[in-house]
Amino acid sequence: MPPAQSQKGPSNSAGTAAGGSSWLRGRVTSLRGVGATRAEQLARLGIVSVQDLLLHGPRRYEDRRHFKKIAELDAETPATVRGAIVAQGLKRFRGGMKSVFEMIVDDGSARLHCRWWNLPFMESYFHVGDEVFVFGKLTDAKPRTMDHPETEVVEGGAEDFIHVARIAPVYPLTEGLPQRWLRGTIWRALETFKGRGGVLQVIKGAAMPMAAAEVEPPIFNALRMVHFPESPSDAEAGRQRLALEEFLALQLQLQWRRKRFEASAKGLPCGGNNRLMKPFLARLGFKLTGAQTGVLREIRADMGGGRPMRRLLQGDVGSGKTAVAACSALMALESGLNAALMAPTEILAGQHFENFKRWFEPLGVTVRLQTGHRKTMEKPAAAGRPAPVLFVGTHALLSENSDLPRLGLVVIDEQHRFGVAQRERLVRKGNYPHLLVMTATPIPRTLGLTLYGDLDVSVLGEMPPRRGRVKTFVRATAQLPKVLEFIREKIAAGRQAYIVYPRIEGDWESPNGGGRGGGLKAVLTEAERLRKVLAPYRVGLMHGRLKGAEKEGIMADFRANNIQVLVATTLIEVGVDAPNATVLLVENAEQFGLAQLHQLRGRIGRGDDESFCILISEARSAEARQRLRILEGTHDGFEIAEADLALRGPGELLGREQSGLPDFHFGNLARDAALVRRARELAIRMADDLPQAVAAPARR
Ligand code: ADP
Ligand code: MG
Repeated sequence: MPPAQSQKGPSNSAGTAAGGSSWLRGRVTSLRGVGATRAEQLARLGIVSVQDLLLHGPRRYEDRRHFKKIAELDAETPATVRGAIVAQGLKRFRGGMKSVFEMIVDDGSARLHCRWWNLPFMESYFHVGDEVFVFGKLTDAKPRTMDHPETEVVEGGAEDFIHVARIAPVYPLTEGLPQRWLRGTIWRALETFKGRGGVLQVIKGAAMPMAAAEVEPPIFNALRMVHFPESPSDAEAGRQRLALEEFLALQLQLQWRRKRFEASAKGLPCGGNNRLMKPFLARLGFKLTGAQTGVLREIRADMGGGRPMRRLLQGDVGSGKTAVAACSALMALESGLNAALMAPTEILAGQHFENFKRWFEPLGVTVRLQTGHRKTMEKPAAAGRPAPVLFVGTHALLSENSDLPRLGLVVIDEQHRFGVAQRERLVRKGNYPHLLVMTATPIPRTLGLTLYGDLDVSVLGEMPPRRGRVKTFVRATAQLPKVLEFIREKIAAGRQAYIVYPRIEGDWESPNGGGRGGGLKAVLTEAERLRKVLAPYRVGLMHGRLKGAEKEGIMADFRANNIQVLVATTLIEVGVDAPNATVLLVENAEQFGLAQLHQLRGRIGRGDDESFCILISEARSAEARQRLRILEGTHDGFEIAEADLALRGPGELLGREQSGLPDFHFGNLARDAALVRRARELAIRMADDLPQAVAAPARR
């Protein structure tokens, strides 16, 4: 499909690209009425270019076609009223340290007191006689009072129609930036866009031109609908169109990346010949599940084919991804190439190293570890044909000058910790080894399509047979002594326990402490306390500030049962495998996402014994307790992740910085599943139809 040249008005197709778009990418100061001061205020909102301004969506809308009467206001429903200021004044007290500014607004039905505490400069914004809009709900009924309402002075003028007698957008602001000014400026920017046109780059750095001609409404109309809707439904329709555009930009990026990759990369023949696999499976101690075998068949087909494998393996905690990784590695090793396995933490890398050494060395495969502090790597022998090597490490394997020789396969374990950018770096590396990405975070479909749109997906949908069950309980802090008594009993019976806290330290200065640190328990102090409470049993301490070697030592002690209780931060959430640990206690559980708690819970129930996950929460809100109860009811990671996505959003689910997701202005991954699917379908079609060279001008 050729880019739509014929569209009238500002099109967003490639037809009007580059030249016509540069003003959109230019600074806001190019707009009439935007000087240095305003530009600086806008920059605080992340608005630097004209385009940023156009993409600054309203926080909410005020239906100024109809107002409430002041006499009808209540304490529940926020509403807008319009009236005249009949009195105002500033009171100072505590020797001028504190103040309250109060004004009284009258709309003929009643009077409304509006108060602002400790914002004395408010006085200069208003004058007796001004007409104002006031938005909020009553904080007091006698007299009718609102504390810190949102307000806007009604000023007659040429542009009055933007602000009054319509559905008015209300934007996120910053100090000193008037709502009215921003609304007017966005209006004028839209008018300019209508005149000049250009290609809106909805996602930073994303390749462009989206807007397949058939997608309605055109971008300009959607922007108009979002900023200045004619009806309440306009706003949502416009938002959806812009959200689709964002998802499409991202999906196109993924599709093109994939196409580029497939065009340029030849796969190494790594199908294997079972020479190592047979003896490996014979000594493994269990039979692969049907799901594992099925996934391995897919992987073998990929690795034997002419293209480098790019596959995501999704499998809930405990579904047996490690065995799949091992078999995949063996295929590469049998084919005479090396393999690399990367884990997100040193602990996990260390654990993999131990496992794989035990599994592979009897087969004549060398296993080498490379993490931040530990390296067993040396240059492979220059002459002769070296024995195949499995490299195990953290992402340190990826970086620096560690060009691993003759790699046939790279496995990345627990991908969500790596982030898309790092994966991308790996994919770009030299000679295209096969890539298997494994994640235990059951990624809701929308997110999966967004994050991994360029990968083929396999799912391990079946758990290995296991006798041990995990029971989950939500308890209040008052029950903690009983819970600790229970843990003592389990230890006496030979089992082990994890106890997890949200913080390392209890002080207010610690990095994550912020202003809400108070009341959250911390590993350092609690470990001391538990050592006394649980004596003579041994309590180990694990957190992110320990050195790599210390962490490994502690983990080894725990696995050997030299330590009975491991007090830890969420550092242990991924991958740690100590089958004798059957109790997991999480304090301040309300601080964690459900998906994260599910990951933590995956640390237990790995052996044959019944296991217990106890979530302690003193959360004041019943809602927080209710949320935790979801875990009592289900063990299905996908169900839990969907609930988490809906409750907390993708940032929380994937880890804020690591998610690698762009900031969507209008899209909402938790709610827009249908739009993500549509974007993906469109992107696949567009990537086929539209050569990237035409479609995506060079990045700026
Ligand atoms: P994850 O998918 O969370 O990485 P692991 O690979 O650590 O899970 O496997 C969890 C546990 O299940 C390990 O102790 C592993 O040895 C065991 N396991 C894996 N596959 C099977 C199987 N087919 N039958 C029995 N146990 C298995
Ligand atoms: Mg694992």
